[in-house]
Amino acid sequence: MNLILVLLLILSCIVSVYLYRFVRLLQQVIFNLWKYPESHHPDRFNLPERKDYRKLTVDAMPIIEIVKKYDFNALLDEYALKHGKPLKPVKHRKNSNISTSLTCPCCGAPYIYLYDNTGGRGQFLCKVCNSTFSHKNRFSKSVILKCPHCKSVLQKIKERSDFFVHKCINPNCSFYLDNYSKLSEEDKAKFKEHPECFKLHYLYREFTFTLDSVTSNSLKPPKVQLSNIHASSHVLGLVLSYFVAYGLSSRMTSAIMWDIHNIRISRQTVLNYARAASFILKPFVDNFQHKLSNSFCGDETYIKVRGKTHYIFFFFDSVKKVIVANYVSSKRDTWSAICAIYSLFKKFKDSLPKPLHFFVDGNPIYLLAQHFFAQNNINFDVTQIIGLTNKDEVSKEFRPLKQIIERLNRTFKYYYKHTNGFDSLDGAISYVNLFTAYFNFLRPHSALDGDIPATVPELADIDNMPGRWCKLLSLAQDYIASNHVAFSS
Ligand SMILES: [Zn+2]
Ligand SMILES: [Zn+2]
Repeated sequence: MNLILVLLLILSCIVSVYLYRFVRLLQQVIFNLWKYPESHHPDRFNLPERKDYRKLTVDAMPIIEIVKKYDFNALLDEYALKHGKPLKPVKHRKNSNISTSLTCPCCGAPYIYLYDNTGGRGQFLCKVCNSTFSHKNRFSKSVILKCPHCKSVLQKIKERSDFFVHKCINPNCSFYLDNYSKLSEEDKAKFKEHPECFKLHYLYREFTFTLDSVTSNSLKPPKVQLSNIHASSHVLGLVLSYFVAYGLSSRMTSAIMWDIHNIRISRQTVLNYARAASFILKPFVDNFQHKLSNSFCGDETYIKVRGKTHYIFFFFDSVKKVIVANYVSSKRDTWSAICAIYSLFKKFKDSLPKPLHFFVDGNPIYLLAQHFFAQNNINFDVTQIIGLTNKDEVSKEFRPLKQIIERLNRTFKYYYKHTNGFDSLDGAISYVNLFTAYFNFLRPHSALDGDIPATVPELADIDNMPGRWCKLLSLAQDYIASNHVAFSS
């Protein structure tokens, strides 16, 4: 009798432990569902980020005068007339690294007339006009830079690995005189002794890297391929729903799959499925032709990769509420801003909208990126919205735009906090891509009256989240098949 009582006691203990765990899980799910689709819960992840920028000021764009010394068509005609036969194009070797978009900065001749002059070391020779140039100096060979304030020709004063600095040295330049007049008497005395401590003259940075070298994030093929997994597509849809759409951790997702659905899936398997799904989705997400506006908000947000701070750059269509571009980087620098903006430009197949507006925070990297693109004949305007608490007029007028991007960041952080950071850059890119897929194609947006930002007719009739994930994956697979997207890209 006693033995039965002891056994009953042990059994009831086990059952109560199980029940307790089950109730906790349910609590978590209900809590998350209740907050879906958007969290307004103030927590440490939602606090506004403090951003301290280096004290770098970016002056206005210079006046860029295009110098076209010769016209290659006229030179070719001249040659044909003189020699009685046309000038033959250059025979490029198969492994030639001359980009087909390269043209001569002096006469505009296309790449078929350009020699690789130094065996891949970067100097080119134009067969039509005989001038030599490199990627680094091609911009300065084809333009004259002038101060926008006094129209004096700028002088190159510094050569760094990635950029040259040009300066207006005109002592009567209004920009310089104005800055000088604002100095206190004490500072004026200091300026006389240490002019290098002050920035009074107009400066312009000319970037020396090329548009061809700008990259976007890519994903390595995952260890586990979706085609090889044992689970049914419904199970995969469930895992993605819990892990991405409801922002549960991999541990919670694994637990709920067992406790609710009686399906054993380890934490690692949850992560493997997510990586495999993200890999399939990336080309579809990156190349989807959204109907976009001409107004974009951009911002950076912190994430941790192996314990180290990294940044995600998001660009968001402020009208269509679509995440247009994301870029994960270990640095918050001009290069990363350029890569993020370039990913956005790739969404416009034919031509960029005109005018094109960017709304960003006070980080000077976006102005430098603007200068870089202007060097490459891509023009847009940048409005810097300094801070929500800032009292200046710009901030007040554009506050709703700033709020849009901060809201996106908050939403991302809400989902991100369950990931406990990432073990690799690839892991971070993979998760950001899944988040973008969910945000654009599956998640109802309150500012669109509960509509989904990117409407895909094939997804419209599916009323449950696992089914929608499966359909999205199958559309992404079709996209890969029909576009022959290389799996490594
Ligand atoms: Zn030429
Ligand atoms: Zn000047």
